[in-house]
Amino acid sequence: MPDKNLAAVKVGPGTTELREFDLPDMPSDAALLRVEVAGVCGTDVSQYKLPLRGAPLIMGHENVGTLARVGREFARQKGFTEGDLVFLEHYLPCGHCEWDHMGEYRHCAATEWFYDPQAIRYGYTSLDIAPGLWGGFSHYVYLPLNAVLHRVPAGLSPEEAGLATPMSNGIQWTLMDGGVGYASTVLIQGPGQQGMCCVMAARQAGAGRIIVTGTSKDARRLEVALAIGADAVIDVQKEDPLERVMQITAGRGVDVVVDCTAGAGTKAVLLGIEATRRRGGTMVVQGEGNQTFPDFPIGRLTRKGMTLKSARGHSYRAVELALHALASRRFPLDLIMTHRFGLADVDHAIKSVGGEGAPGAIHVSVLPWK
Ligand SMILES: [Zn+2]
Ligand SMILES: [Zn+2]
Repeated sequence: MPDKNLAAVKVGPGTTELREFDLPDMPSDAALLRVEVAGVCGTDVSQYKLPLRGAPLIMGHENVGTLARVGREFARQKGFTEGDLVFLEHYLPCGHCEWDHMGEYRHCAATEWFYDPQAIRYGYTSLDIAPGLWGGFSHYVYLPLNAVLHRVPAGLSPEEAGLATPMSNGIQWTLMDGGVGYASTVLIQGPGQQGMCCVMAARQAGAGRIIVTGTSKDARRLEVALAIGADAVIDVQKEDPLERVMQITAGRGVDVVVDCTAGAGTKAVLLGIEATRRRGGTMVVQGEGNQTFPDFPIGRLTRKGMTLKSARGHSYRAVELALHALASRRFPLDLIMTHRFGLADVDHAIKSVGGEGAPGAIHVSVLPWK
C-alpha cells in the first residue's frame, strides 16, 4: 500500500492539474477506495466551467472501486472487507433523518450541496475539507462511515458498473417517477448517456413504444438508441417532433415524457406537454437553480390532468436495480461506453462529454490507473 495519492485537481474554471497528496491517516471507522473507474456526467460539464466555491477540488462523482483499506469499525458496521468491488454513491447522508431511513439520501439536508456550502458530496467538495479526497478523478477516495456503498454483482466489470449512476437515474425517473411499465408509450428527449439509460429502463420494464429525440449532431447517438431498444427516433432539427410523435402513436400521444436534454429547457417542456396523451400523462423534467419559465402554459397542464415531476437524483433502491439491470446482459453496453481516459486527460474527458473534445462521446470513463 503506497502512502501517496495522485489526483486531477480542478484549480479554476475549466482548468485541471495533476497533484500528489499524502494519503490520510485512517481512523478505524473509515475506509479507502482505490478508484477503478470514475464516470463523467453532464453535470461535470456545467460544474467544470464555474468558478471555484472555495479551495480547489477533485471532481468525479460516479465512482466504482476496490476497497483498499478498511478500518475495523467500518468493516464491523458496514459489512465490507478489503478487496470488495463497490459502487460509491455521491451522497454522504447524515444517517439520522427520515429520508435516510428510506434510502432517499438525495433529499437529506446533509447532501444538499447546491444550497448548503457545508454539505459534503463526492465530486463537489473542496480539498480544504479534511481529508480532501472527495473526488473520483484520483487514485484513491476517502470513505467515512456514512459513505453509501453498493456491492457490484459478479460478472459486471468496473467500467460497466460505472454506468450505475445514469442507469439508476434512468430507473428512478422513467419507472419510479414517470410510472412507465408494461405497454407504456414513452418519449425520451435527448440521446445522451442519461437518455440511453432511460431507454434501457423502459425497455426492461416492458414499455410498448419508446421514442427518442435528438438534434442533427446526435445522428450516431440516435442509431445507438435504436440498437439498445428505442422503437423510433426523431431529429428535431429535420422533422416536426410533435407531428412525428402523433404519427407514431396514431394521434394518441405518449403516456410519459422524460426530459434528458442538456439545456433545451422551455422548448423541451413545451414539446413534452403537447406530446402527452389527452388525459393523465406524466412528464419528468430537468431544471436548474435560477431557471424560470415565462408564460408557462399551466392551463394546458390542468386541462390534460397532467403531472409534472422533477428529475433529481436517485434512491438507494434505484441503484440496486440499476446494477442488476446492467448485470442482466440484455443490452449492448459497449455501444454506450465510448471513451476512456487516464488521469492526465480529465480536462479532455469532461470537454468530450460537453461535445468539445473527442467526437462521438456517450458515456466517458476516467480510469485513474490507466
Ligand atoms: Zn452525475
Ligand atoms: Zn439525513
